[in-house]
Amino acid sequence: MIVAERGWFWQSMGMKNLSKHYSLLLGLDEAWQVVDVELSLEQKQVQIHLKSTGKPVCCSECGEQRPLKDHAPERTWRHLDTMQFETVLTARVPRTKCPNCGVKTCDVPWAEPHGRFTMMFEAFAIRVLQAAGTTEQARILLGLNWNSVQKIMDKAVERGLIARDLEEIKHVGIDEKNFHRGHDYITVLTDIDQSRVLEVTQGRDEEAADVLWEIFSENQKENIEAVAVDMWQAFENSVVKNVPEAEIVHDRFHISKHLNEAVDIVRRQEHKALKKEGDETLAGSRYWWLRNPENIDDETWDSFAILKEMELKTSRAWAIREQFRWFWEYRYARSAKKFFARWYQWASRCRLEPVKKVARMIRKRLNNILTWFRHRISNGPAEGFNSRIQSIKSAARGFKNFNNYRTRILFFCGKLDLLPNGSH
Ligand SMILES: [Zn+2]
Repeated sequence: MIVAERGWFWQSMGMKNLSKHYSLLLGLDEAWQVVDVELSLEQKQVQIHLKSTGKPVCCSECGEQRPLKDHAPERTWRHLDTMQFETVLTARVPRTKCPNCGVKTCDVPWAEPHGRFTMMFEAFAIRVLQAAGTTEQARILLGLNWNSVQKIMDKAVERGLIARDLEEIKHVGIDEKNFHRGHDYITVLTDIDQSRVLEVTQGRDEEAADVLWEIFSENQKENIEAVAVDMWQAFENSVVKNVPEAEIVHDRFHISKHLNEAVDIVRRQEHKALKKEGDETLAGSRYWWLRNPENIDDETWDSFAILKEMELKTSRAWAIREQFRWFWEYRYARSAKKFFARWYQWASRCRLEPVKKVARMIRKRLNNILTWFRHRISNGPAEGFNSRIQSIKSAARGFKNFNNYRTRILFFCGKLDLLPNGSH
């Protein structure tokens, strides 16, 4: 049984005061008044009934003052809670008859058109989502279902994208990410200088990358000076096609990753061969070879030092990788190019096929690697959103819908102005 204690508030606070109180809270103008506040103890709900005062109304399409036609059927909006009580507004919104636009429902000051929540509630929900550790945690705090949370995020992102400024972007990055445990890929476009995600698309082929450029106007594309990408032909093609003036900068972190992978393959093969002869020299050493020396603690380093001085194929591969790190320390492309020639001599003669393969790959793309010395951009792990995308991904294990995933990435990593107009 629902106990609706209509008028409970009126008695305790005085009708005029309460009406004024809620009008102020809701930021109502003279076109609206609070006519009743209904409290349901059982449902833990407060209903605030609003009524239009009959003041002149405007067409929501063209903004001109027009004659009132009628009132739309009553509807509700979820508002900020009053104490622990869920609070909803109810109203019948006036409709105008406009000679140019036809019959239109008027805008209301507390909500955006077609919104199911008041702007104050949406703004609050957005702040809770941003502050909470996980979206699930925020959802529980807000007392909403998944669908409502998704709608609030969709709208916030949509709003933010419209208001977003894409002028003067000079350095962008295109990077692939794994989605659904390696089966699907997404491609992410970032603004490197402002460290924000600009767009996300499904797949990692040339068409996928082409879609990303559609967010820019022709003028905006011309502003782009350099693009950081992996040594991946599809992305390279897309850059050449869409922003022919921009320079390609192959990502130094990807190059390091390729070299690291080569060291790892050599170690695996060698360990397997040694083990056959009962030799466990390389057992348990995997992370020593992959880590940067400066990240190895003193104690481990002592054991590692002995290992790397041994006549191992893995030590040779490791030394070649270590040597390449100097490449990035040069100030000018010309000196780096000279260094590379010497390094390549060594690497190409090392008789370790995985290392030689990466060395050839680097040589083939050298011109677009030397651009680093002019632009010094990368899709490096320094950007906070890489780990953020990772955590959105793991939280989204059940996502069937790519658009929901895109929304979340843009919501958390797009640096968008997400709040509804008029709520801040
Ligand atoms: Zn109109």
